[in-house]
Amino acid sequence: MSEKDIFADSVHRLQRIASEAGVGPEVVAALSQPKATLIASLPVRRDDGSTTYFTAYRCQYNDALGPTKGGIRFHPGVTCEEIQALALWMTLKTAVVRIPFGGGKGGVTVDPKALSRMELERLSRAYIRAMADFVGPRTDIPAPDVYTDARIMGWMADEYQAIKRVKAPDIITGKPISLGGSFGREEATGRGAYLTTRELLKRLGRESAGTTVALQGFGNAGIHIARLLHQEGYRIVAVSDSKGAIYSDRGYDIERLEALKSAEGTVTAMEGQVRLTNDELLELDVDILVPAALESVIGEWNADRIKAPIIVEVANGPLTSDADSTLADNGCVIIPDILANAGGVTVSYFEWVQNRAGYHWSLSEVREKMEKIMVDAFDRVWTHSEETGVPLRNSAYVLAIRRIGEAIQSHGTREYFRPPVKLKGVPIS
Ligand code: NAD
Repeated sequence: MSEKDIFADSVHRLQRIASEAGVGPEVVAALSQPKATLIASLPVRRDDGSTTYFTAYRCQYNDALGPTKGGIRFHPGVTCEEIQALALWMTLKTAVVRIPFGGGKGGVTVDPKALSRMELERLSRAYIRAMADFVGPRTDIPAPDVYTDARIMGWMADEYQAIKRVKAPDIITGKPISLGGSFGREEATGRGAYLTTRELLKRLGRESAGTTVALQGFGNAGIHIARLLHQEGYRIVAVSDSKGAIYSDRGYDIERLEALKSAEGTVTAMEGQVRLTNDELLELDVDILVPAALESVIGEWNADRIKAPIIVEVANGPLTSDADSTLADNGCVIIPDILANAGGVTVSYFEWVQNRAGYHWSLSEVREKMEKIMVDAFDRVWTHSEETGVPLRNSAYVLAIRRIGEAIQSHGTREYFRPPVKLKGVPIS
């Protein structure tokens, strides 16, 4: 799929499922376009004294339910369409778990692995300088995503607070604990995804022990779901990262893989393994497939060859809308991204609440609160799916669209018939 198509495809899927939600055309119209997207050029001084310009985006998709919320991605493939699709999914996700946020997303088109530590810090600070009047603790709150982490969130929070001359840790979530980060944020996406997997297996009457899993993407989200699945007796037989995949019928010891990944930078450094491509991993004959890397990895080109009867969408948008119907016809049960990976934004919400209130919750408190939200959300989505006979994705979308629709109606029409705004940022010297 071309990058241009990803946003069109996400809106197409939304509009198709919205017809099942019974909402008015004004709700569908509001959800079919972003409220505002800021595009900026970021000048970054390189270590050799030269300057490189990077294109940066921040999309505030819909704020009917609260301030927009969503991560910032640093990746060479970032485009405006991708960021807008991710921001639409964030809008639906916060509604599924019923937290008081809208949806947003940000990104920079950059290969962060090609930057030095100082260049990465300058880029992170330049991003927040360009966005400082667009984001805010009560308007739009960023967080980490692909190739961004707590360290980068710390730099961004510091830069924002220096610009505004206030202490405002609630400007960003996923920060280091020392700067007001929440316990449990780093593991939250993977833990939440694990909880939805556990709930699904319970409903299907299946045992976890020995259940085979193929995992694509061994980053923040992938590592944490892998750890929990491994602890609970699932057999993780294939794992991958951007360098490729490895396979072992006996299953992997996840702690060992983590140590290898941090020492060598890739899981493919493990010796004596069957090597696969990332595409081959997706087609393995396993019980559960967990795409946890990037979007659009399963589409009409390979959906027919997917053998796993269960897919847990830890990545955002790993399936195109065409793949949905092929997989449903083949009897595949999919826990959709807007439910499966919602643990991350849920604990980001907890971080924001703690920052605003000046509290600090213990890890066990965070885990307990997150588990309740994730299990309740799974239960609502599962029950609606059972009652109506629609797949879990349709069920999650319908519940989210209805909730956002109610808020849109309650706000009245002034806010929501505004045309989308696109601003061009001015380079900051
Ligand atoms: P990350 O940067 O920590 O990890 C990304 C992983 O994907 C790395 O292991 C990388 O090597 C691998 N990867 C990159 N390109 C790949 C490719 N072409 N094929 C296979 N693997 C590839 O990122 P993350 O935070 O773990 O995010 C992964 C996915 O989860 C993304 O879709 C992200 O939007 C989604 N997600 C993350 C969070 C979060 O809190 N971090 C929350 C919700 C959703």
